[in-house]
Amino acid sequence: MQNKLGIASVTQQPVPAQAQGWKQAVRDGVGDVAELLQLLGLSNQARTLTIDQNSPFATKVPRNFVARMRYGDPNDPLLQQVLARTQENETVSGYVADPVGDLTRLAAPGVVHKYADRVLLITTGACAVHCRYCFRRHFPYDQEVAAKDNWSVAVRYIRERPQIREIILSGGDPLSLDTAKLQRLTDQLKDIEHIQRFRIHSRQPIVLPERIDDALLTWIKALPWPVVVVLHSNHANEIDQAVVDMAKRLRNVGATLLNQAVLLRSINDDVTVLEHLSGQLFAAGILPYYLNMLDQVQGAQHFYVPKDEAIALVRQLRHRLSGYLVPRLVREEAGKAHKIPLDDEPK
Ligand code: SF4
Repeated sequence: MQNKLGIASVTQQPVPAQAQGWKQAVRDGVGDVAELLQLLGLSNQARTLTIDQNSPFATKVPRNFVARMRYGDPNDPLLQQVLARTQENETVSGYVADPVGDLTRLAAPGVVHKYADRVLLITTGACAVHCRYCFRRHFPYDQEVAAKDNWSVAVRYIRERPQIREIILSGGDPLSLDTAKLQRLTDQLKDIEHIQRFRIHSRQPIVLPERIDDALLTWIKALPWPVVVVLHSNHANEIDQAVVDMAKRLRNVGATLLNQAVLLRSINDDVTVLEHLSGQLFAAGILPYYLNMLDQVQGAQHFYVPKDEAIALVRQLRHRLSGYLVPRLVREEAGKAHKIPLDDEPK
């Protein structure tokens, strides 16, 4: 069952070569759940898997991420993250469109100012992959994007507030934007003396490591602030040689690499799976940073792991790993001044 798939699907439906560039790889991604199942030899399981062919949150998966899934395995942890299912259409109490209160903390279009010394820019609604548990899957990106008007409103907001020390690029996925567009933002921020740190939150280096190309590396290297790239990987199977090489390229230009994972039912809610993820991340030069409780967004309830179970898992993890390999278990709560740590008192 092990990944003949990747190879088989790669030869039948060519995966774009690195040389063709990351934009082509995004365009060539799998955009149809039936095709995804067919590539994995699972077409005859569509009914059992309760597939939703018509979800308004479209299927989107880079082909080289599909190639990391196990052929013929409906429970593959990477597949489960991207599989549109009919459960997403159920209405469940407590699951809402904006679970972390982004919309109530919009200070300007696409500028989320929740925490005292930092602002988060919603740079774009685009992502290379559509993760079914995404807490911004209902975000109104068409109205609220900081990149509008050549970033002018966002830059003015930051310039006028000396308490802002850190800029966080988020989305969507900020690395979905062309490097030249990112550069147009940072060119306007460079002379703002109160900015001290620059952070990029992105899943793209994991699902599409060719995004970390020479142009992006040149941009990062030239930034005048310490740069932190917070990656998003949920399972060790996501970390292949291309991801390891990508991480090395980023470290070589001085970026600090952290990872945040989301605790997801049937994907990584197992101490051995989490242990393996931390080990693979560290081997790639990426520190495990946060293990996020699922944000309770409409359509994602089937991924939820309850708090007590999550705390027990992290406590087991602490018995197995050095402290620096144990990610902080946190929950984001709307209106709070910071993320809430849940495992402060180890047993
Ligand atoms: S890459 Fe991030 S923003 Fe995009 S769908 Fe996945 S979780 Fe959401």
